Amino acid sequence: MGLFSKDIATLDDLFVHTLQDIYYAENQITKALPKMIDKATAPDLKAGFELHLRETEGQISRLERVFEMHGQEPKAVTCPAIDGIIKEANEIAGDVADKAVLDAALVAAAQAVEHYEITRYGTLIAWATQLGREDCAAVLAETLAEEKATDEKLTAMAESKVNAKAELAHA
Ligand code: FE
Ligand code: FE
Ligand code: FE
Repeated sequence: MGLFSKDIATLDDLFVHTLQDIYYAENQITKALPKMIDKATAPDLKAGFELHLRETEGQISRLERVFEMHGQEPKAVTCPAIDGIIKEANEIAGDVADKAVLDAALVAAAQAVEHYEITRYGTLIAWATQLGREDCAAVLAETLAEEKATDEKLTAMAESKVNAKAELAHA
């Protein structure tokens, strides 16, 4: 463990690194959502993805604001977790034949994305608060609320009809 060979020395460094991680993730999500919009069949699922694409663009602007507030240039570092979640979503979507079953798969894939975001924003808010950056925490909390609301809407769609429609599909 070389003392000078690692970039992350302090909690502040870890906070900035994790901002860069979620900045990368949000940018990848804006590339993945248009494909999910194309694949979705249920109109409210399609509309939900469209709304969240616009929200995600706003979340990227919010992150850029937090970088600036914290005296950092906005920068992305690869997030292998989001790459894996999106890869898995594409793989499963490519394997599903029935449109209703595909909708159920898309909801599940989207919820995996939201849950990743929820864990990252929750951590970022806790670290920002610990570092005395309540201003940054407040901006990040706006995004966390959107991610949680999206997750809840997806659950409601799945449980109210998407899963039931999917069950009707047969081989
Ligand atoms: Fe997001
Ligand atoms: Fe990550
Ligand atoms: Fe999201």
